[in-house]
Amino acid sequence: MTRDEILEIIEDENIHFFRLQFVDIFGFMKNVALPKSQIGKALDGNIMFDGSSIDGFVRINESDMYLKPDYNTFAVMPWRSRNGVAAARIICDVYKHDNTPFEGCPRVNLKRVLAEAKELGYTMNVGTEAEFFLFEQDEKGLPTTVTNDVAGYFSLDPEDKANDCRREIIETLEQMGFEIEASHHEVSEGQHEINFKYADALTAADNTVTFKWVVKSIAQKYKLHATFMPKPIFGINGSGMHTNQSLFNLDGTNAFFDESDPLQLSKVAYAYIAGALKGARGFAAVTNPLVNSYKRLVPGYEAPVYAAWSASNRSALIRIPASRGLSTRTEIRCPDPTCNPYLAFAMMLNSGLDGVKNNLTPPPEVKKDIFKMTAAEMVEANISVMPGSLKEAIDELKANPISRPTLGDHIYEKYVAAKEKEWDSYRIAVTDWEIREYLSVY
Ligand code: ADP
Ligand code: GLU
Ligand code: MG
Ligand code: MG
Repeated sequence: MTRDEILEIIEDENIHFFRLQFVDIFGFMKNVALPKSQIGKALDGNIMFDGSSIDGFVRINESDMYLKPDYNTFAVMPWRSRNGVAAARIICDVYKHDNTPFEGCPRVNLKRVLAEAKELGYTMNVGTEAEFFLFEQDEKGLPTTVTNDVAGYFSLDPEDKANDCRREIIETLEQMGFEIEASHHEVSEGQHEINFKYADALTAADNTVTFKWVVKSIAQKYKLHATFMPKPIFGINGSGMHTNQSLFNLDGTNAFFDESDPLQLSKVAYAYIAGALKGARGFAAVTNPLVNSYKRLVPGYEAPVYAAWSASNRSALIRIPASRGLSTRTEIRCPDPTCNPYLAFAMMLNSGLDGVKNNLTPPPEVKKDIFKMTAAEMVEANISVMPGSLKEAIDELKANPISRPTLGDHIYEKYVAAKEKEWDSYRIAVTDWEIREYLSVY
């Protein structure tokens, strides 16, 4: 999209409010809203903000930062139209006051990592499946822990009470340019999934943060609280964000596809799988960033626990979905939707590329249900266990040689410091579980 095309849409659609958006290192979308008179200045990248007020960005003495819009991300926000007056948004890269890209901007960082992959001859394509729960709100509009229905996998109305809400989410996303592939009620009560078409990794990260924002905003209209928290309810499936990924050659062919192989996977695909399995314990703190993330990665709920791969098995960390040709891909199943997709894609890509650069071979495919294997069988099959806590994951992230070069010094330092603080705050908290288990018996 060009500047002139955007200005034409702004006139045609009567857009009076314009939001400049960016993402902080924890994956939270931020924005500043501008009136129509400022749109020209905004499109030229001349809008400044105070970077010192954004967690993990900069110190107060270097706080003036610029928002440089990416014209391709321009989209009207259908749910913000009032009496014929419309609103639109655009996603920006963050620049420093000297007009150079800011290393602490996750989008800037992902672009750097993707440019390095391009030097090796690859582009990355990504399709995310961010699951979410819908919870009732109380009379003050605050979220409760009561799900909006008690339906299950593929239920239909009237048990599935989110049909209207899901439909409006889909219509909104379509108006914003998304191609929706499917939607359904997920396994848990109140849990839902809406799938949209994959794209190059940068667009996919933009789409993923936009998707979460739209889901939350539309759910709010239905007086529901949408949450991407990985494990809101003990004892039932949590929410994952399976990340389907493939490498394409620069000529647009899928580098993972090889018709002559028994599984029709190329050497590059096998090496990518090997690299991702090797790196998984060391990227979990980014793909699974919360204390709560590790309550999802436990046996019995379709979430992966063991670093293995399989062409079909949903208990494995990496599944190879059946489609081939352009759709040949690895589905990495550990990420959850609270991750920062810009950072998570960068970490998974560089782990996979570590396998490609070093010609790694993955261990054999695991066809058994891994949850039923004995410890000895797992050792024999070369299967490692994913971190059991955020603390373990942070230690693994720090020990992973790929982390710092992939995240860049700025993001790496700020991210690790913030996650260590989060862990410490959890470590010293006294939880309901402790009260229940200990108070009356000791
Ligand atoms: P599942 O089999 O786990 O239910 P879905 O059909 O829900 O998978 O989602 C598959 C995702 O994979 C979609 O976002 C789809 O667009 C995406 N996808 C398809 N082909 C590719 C590819 N070559 N690279 C990356 N993602 C892809
Ligand atoms: N909700 C499951 C998870 O936590 C995934 C279910 C599915 O395979 O779609 O990853
Ligand atoms: Mg699902
Ligand atoms: Mg999936």
